[in-house]
Amino acid sequence: MDIDAARKDTPGCANVAHLNNAGAALPPRPVIEAVAEHLALESTIGGYEAAERNAVAIERFYESVAGLVGARPDEIAYVENATRAWDMAFYAIPFAPGDRILTTTSEYSSNAIAYQQVAAARGVKVEVVPDGRDGVLSLDALSAELERGDVRLVSINHVPTHNGLVNPAAAVGRLCRQHGVLYLLDACQSVGQISVDVEEIGCDMLSATGRKYLRGPRGTGFLYVRREMIAALEPPFLDLHAATWKAPDGYEIRGDARRFESWERYVAGQIGLGVAAEYASELGIEAIRERVAALADGLRERLAARPGTTVLDKGERPSGIVTFTVDGHEPAAVKKAARERGVNINTTSPRSQGYDPRALPSAVRASVHYYNTEEELDLLMSALPG
Ligand SMILES: *Cc1c(COP(=O)(O)O)cnc(C)c1O
Repeated sequence: MDIDAARKDTPGCANVAHLNNAGAALPPRPVIEAVAEHLALESTIGGYEAAERNAVAIERFYESVAGLVGARPDEIAYVENATRAWDMAFYAIPFAPGDRILTTTSEYSSNAIAYQQVAAARGVKVEVVPDGRDGVLSLDALSAELERGDVRLVSINHVPTHNGLVNPAAAVGRLCRQHGVLYLLDACQSVGQISVDVEEIGCDMLSATGRKYLRGPRGTGFLYVRREMIAALEPPFLDLHAATWKAPDGYEIRGDARRFESWERYVAGQIGLGVAAEYASELGIEAIRERVAALADGLRERLAARPGTTVLDKGERPSGIVTFTVDGHEPAAVKKAARERGVNINTTSPRSQGYDPRALPSAVRASVHYYNTEEELDLLMSALPG
């Protein structure tokens, strides 16, 4: 991979060592330009008129995102963020009392809150599958829970927000298929970082955001729903885009994944997200994964060699998210010290990792992307206090 070219194509690289890619990555120039151009067009000729003129680019979003995740364009919905995308799928599932939802210790709290809400409202049981010795979701434990029956949904994250682990998404998919169980995957941190192919993974529904490893605009996300599942999933909200009014008092819901969308949207963001998906596909996800893994490994090595610093990431093949603590220094203070040296990092919050019995209240999170450099890792190391 040509790192110099990637950095030249990323204006933000000139200002900051950005190691907060799990928060929001720096967008590349084509994404910035696509968004800015559409906004300029809206302000020049009018919003509806701009959408008409850019109809091809708007439509192209579906092909670009579908191409990135191995789906078909009619299986993709544009949604304003990953949480809403996930919600539109989750709340569409016709749960019955006694149904079981299986999830994982590292589940994102927004998802966990939704499980608990539905559990209270519909008599559904939520069960957290324990981790194996390597620290990621145990397939043996999941298999045993599936054998016990009554599982309506397996719903997990691919890569969590607060730890560098990668869950075995495709192996989980095989188990779900064997048992004929619905499978919802939160791929928020994995899309744009590692290979995410809905056929290979075997998920029925998948949600992701624009601004993280995909390097798209903020306020964008998407949902994938497997074609055969769409008709069985009635969206919790409908509008005149998701459904068609049938006089005098009826309506018909769309047959494609756009039934999960709303009519009004951030059009510039939709175009920009499509461009971001194409950008990642063109660079090649395997090349991206390799580069991210090498940088993350390099950072973990540096941190492990430093006295008083503890790396917390689990799993055999961790992601680009590196979490750690520095003895005697609050994560927030570490973040501040790094910021003062021009390095962006973040802290993890207990509010985002509700089920994880081993998660610390807070830790430092440095998340690398392919456009980062070894020098930037050294800069972070030199900025650590103590
Ligand atoms: C960031 C994140 C989300 C939420 O994405 P939004 O676009 O902020 O709604 C969901 N799951 C995981 C694992 C995340 O890291």
